[in-house]
Amino acid sequence: SRQIRLAARPEGRPGPEHFRLEEAAVLPPGEGEVLLQTLYLSLDPYMRGRMSAARSYAQPTELGAVMEGGTVSRVLESRDPRFAPGDIVLSYSGWQSHAVARGDSLRKLDPAVAPVSTALGVLGMPGFTAWSGLLLLGQPKAGETVVVAAATGPVGSAVGQIARIKGARAVGIAGGPKKCAALLEEFGFDAAIDHRAPDFPEQLRAACPRGIDVYFENVGGPVWDAVFPLLNEFARVPVCGLVSQYNVASTGGPDRLPGLMREVLSRSLTIRGFIQREFAAHRPEFLEEMAGWVAEGKVRYREDVVRGLEQAPEAFAGLLEGRNFGKLLVQVAE
Ligand code: NDP
Repeated sequence: SRQIRLAARPEGRPGPEHFRLEEAAVLPPGEGEVLLQTLYLSLDPYMRGRMSAARSYAQPTELGAVMEGGTVSRVLESRDPRFAPGDIVLSYSGWQSHAVARGDSLRKLDPAVAPVSTALGVLGMPGFTAWSGLLLLGQPKAGETVVVAAATGPVGSAVGQIARIKGARAVGIAGGPKKCAALLEEFGFDAAIDHRAPDFPEQLRAACPRGIDVYFENVGGPVWDAVFPLLNEFARVPVCGLVSQYNVASTGGPDRLPGLMREVLSRSLTIRGFIQREFAAHRPEFLEEMAGWVAEGKVRYREDVVRGLEQAPEAFAGLLEGRNFGKLLVQVAE
C-alpha cells in the first residue's frame, strides 16, 4: 500500500515537508473486515485542523500517522457477508491506496443511482453540511437574501442552489471571474461577487439591496467584515467554516468583540456554529431529498479531480488558497 503520513505540523501553509510518502505491506482482512482499494480520496479543509495540535472539535492526527480522509473504495477481499469483491463503498480509509476496514464502518454505493464520487461531495459530507446548516439553522424563507462564500465549492454551491429551491435570492462570493461566471451560469445564483475585487464591499452592498437575512459563513476574514454591516434584523449566521483563517497562526489586532456583541444585541442576530455530525439523525432525509434534486437537475455539482495519490499534498495546499474549482478529489486508482 502507498500511504501519505503526517511528517510535521505546519505553521501556516502546509508544504511537502509536512508529508511523507511510504510503502507498507497490504494486510489480509480479519473476521468482519474487508480489504479495500481506494478509488477516490476526498480532500477537505477540515484536514488542516487535524494537522495542527491546537484544541479543536476533533483529535489531531498523530505525527507519523496516515492522514485521515473520506474515500470511495473498491472491495478486493471480504470477510463480512454483506460485502463481496467488486462492491464500491464509502469508507474513511485516509490518504492511502489500500486499507483494511470493518464492514460495519462502510456504506455500499450504487453506481446506478449517481456517479460514486458524489458520495464524497454533493451526496456526501459537504452536501449534508450545506443542507443541514442552511435548512436547520439558516431557515431561509421565500424572498429573503442568502449569501455564501467559497460558493463554487461543494458546500457553497449546494447552499446557493438549495436557497433558490426555497425561493430565496442567492448571492455567491468566489475568487476570480471564472468562478463568478460559473456561479451565474452553472449554479444559477442571482448574483456573483469576486472577493478579490478592490471594491468588493461596495459590490456586495449593491448586490444585496434589501440586506442579508442568512449568511452561511464558510470563510471569515475580510468577507465577514463586508457581510456584517449588511445583516438585517433577525439575520441568521450558521458558522460552518473559516477557511481564510486556517493557515493563519495568530490573529492579533484591535479587540472588536464589544462592537460585535452590541450589534448581535441591537439587530437580534443569531450566530450559530455547527459541525455537521451534530445533525447525523437527518442524514437519510438529506440523501433522499438531495438525490432527488440532483436527479432532477435542480442541484448541480462540479468536481475537480487530481490524478495520483502523490499529488494529494500539493492539491490540499491549493484547496486552502482557492486553487480548486469544485469538489476536490484525488483519483487514486481507476
Ligand atoms: P471548497 O472546495 O469551497 O474550498 C475552499 C474554498 O475556500 C477555496 O476554493 C476558496 O474559494 C475559498 N477560500 C480560501 N481562502 C479564502 C479566503 N482567504 N477568502 C475567501 N475565500 C477563501 O471547500 P468546501 O466546500 O469543502 O468547504 C467550505 C467550508 O465549509 C470550509 O470552511 C470548511 O471548513 C467548511 N466545512 C464545515 C463543515 C462543518 O461540519 N462545519 C463540514 C464541511 C466543510 P474561492 O477561490 O472562491 O475564494
